[in-house]
Amino acid sequence: MSMVSPTIVIVGGVAGGASAATRARRMNEQAEIVLFEKDEYVSFANCGLPYHIGEEIPDRNDLLVATPEFLAQRFRIDVRVKQEVLSIDRDRKVVTVRKAGGSDETYEQSYDKLILAPGASPVVPPLEGVDAANVLTLRNLNDTDRIKAIVDRDATKRALVVGAGFIGLEMVEQLVQRKIATTLVELQSQVLPLLDPEMAKPIEQELLRHDVTVCTGAGLDRIIADEHGVAFAAVLDDGTRIETDLVILGIGVRPNVSLAKEAGLEIGASGGIATNDSMQTSDDDIYAVGDAAEYPYAPGDTRMRIALAGPANRAGRLAGEHAATGQCAKMSAVMGTSIVRVFGISAAMTGLTSGLATRMKREARSVTIVSKHHAGYFPGAEMMTLKLLYASEDGTILGAQIVGGEGVDKRVDVIATAMHFEGTVCDLAGVDLAYAPPFGSAKDPVHLAAFVAGNQLDGIENLTDADSNLEGIQVVDVRTAAEVQKASLKGVDNVIHIPVDELREHLDELDRSRETIVSCAVGARGHIASRILKQNGFDVSNLSGGATVRDRVFD
Ligand code: FAD
Repeated sequence: MSMVSPTIVIVGGVAGGASAATRARRMNEQAEIVLFEKDEYVSFANCGLPYHIGEEIPDRNDLLVATPEFLAQRFRIDVRVKQEVLSIDRDRKVVTVRKAGGSDETYEQSYDKLILAPGASPVVPPLEGVDAANVLTLRNLNDTDRIKAIVDRDATKRALVVGAGFIGLEMVEQLVQRKIATTLVELQSQVLPLLDPEMAKPIEQELLRHDVTVCTGAGLDRIIADEHGVAFAAVLDDGTRIETDLVILGIGVRPNVSLAKEAGLEIGASGGIATNDSMQTSDDDIYAVGDAAEYPYAPGDTRMRIALAGPANRAGRLAGEHAATGQCAKMSAVMGTSIVRVFGISAAMTGLTSGLATRMKREARSVTIVSKHHAGYFPGAEMMTLKLLYASEDGTILGAQIVGGEGVDKRVDVIATAMHFEGTVCDLAGVDLAYAPPFGSAKDPVHLAAFVAGNQLDGIENLTDADSNLEGIQVVDVRTAAEVQKASLKGVDNVIHIPVDELREHLDELDRSRETIVSCAVGARGHIASRILKQNGFDVSNLSGGATVRDRVFD
């Protein structure tokens, strides 16, 4: 081979593959670049598919980011659609390809560098009835067309979405916008199982507000179809029967690793194709990117599969450059930064959750704040809850989850950026963010979370998780009488009520010898109360996120 004009073969023509192909061309005019895609379309907007079904993206053509003709014209890429790569012969450096046209005819294509970007396939559980015509998964444009055709029919009145992850939730939102009565079923005990339970709760409440029937802690047992193979009902494992005109399965994806496995490439512990920081596999001439590959994973200091478009695009770009030139920057660690909109609210995360930290045996502390997205005095301020995780030993930020109205996207990205640079909560507290009343606050929600974490780290304030058992503890609710009357603190008996502004006058009514926890609505007045009590000799801690977050746990 000549490094000046290598033959670069790419398997898979969407997020990772198209990014690799175009970067390879921009870096090397002489390379021969062949891109194989087994389906009809390349470079389409996977992430936009639910929004076309919901007609928020009305024009289907808008989903076609680049056509084969465009890639050929602008990038001189030899795009071969409807051609599946069947196997890799690493010794001879050739791939065997099934020709287009539905026959079993094959041919060989040689390569100097091979980039695997075959993506992942939706999981279809082996249950009775799943092969019915209106039981569908959503991965590509053909799936989209099938689902949309059913949704467009006047007779389609009800839908069942199985799986409350990102795609499931996006589909629920779009189906409801199409006026379809929708039921959401999730095997775990909460929607968005990636999030900590109290952070997912507002999403569930938003779904209920929009008349979605939410069944958590229940699995799909079987689907009942008529004699024409059309499903009309589903039965859950608790016996619940749900009548439906459409079933969408959104229960996760499996990485497409069979090509790599059969070629003897190493598969990593998380089930993706093992890669190094230049996205090379265990064979230096073969790269892997996207949903099928593993990436360096930041907070766990390990390698992981992360089925998201951002990493696929960035890794594709790096692999394309390396294949074309023999060098590229290191693939940065990914953190699973992600976001989903569910009607009027959004949920976002980056890095570790408390659940993930426990599973990864990572020591982490958390703080939760509830704050407005911009200055409270400026009309239209919306609430958000932000949970920040950090390392107990040195304050390194480990992750964040944010749920709320406007501005969730900006905060998660600020924290992800701080994490990218291995920032601590102290660094985050000092980040100089843009502020004017329509956009934020002089103390932004990310600052508040960092201040609280810094206070905890420095021993200025102790915090107790909102879901803690408070039995036997002296609990002081420092909200106003009116607030307490409206909603008492859930899951605790014998709460002592002293509004924060009267606390200094009532210190003698409290027992200094007992462990004490203060609570307010969101944690802000609790902080002041805890400072008063601490400086008066109490062993005191503030309930993180106050009654707002605790209520979600004990709802
Ligand atoms: P893909 O983009 O799936 O491309 C793989 C391609 O390889 C496929 O077209 C496949 O046909 C082809 N292929 C496979 N095997 C072969 C073979 N042997 N020969 C030839 N071709 C082959 N991520 C986000 O970050 N944000 C979002 O909002 C978001 N929304 C999503 C919404 C939906 C409905 C879906 C399905 C995904 C969404 N994702 C989102 C995930 C994101 O789309 C994927 O992480 C990303 O597309 C992965 O890129 P990839 O190149 O690995 O795989």
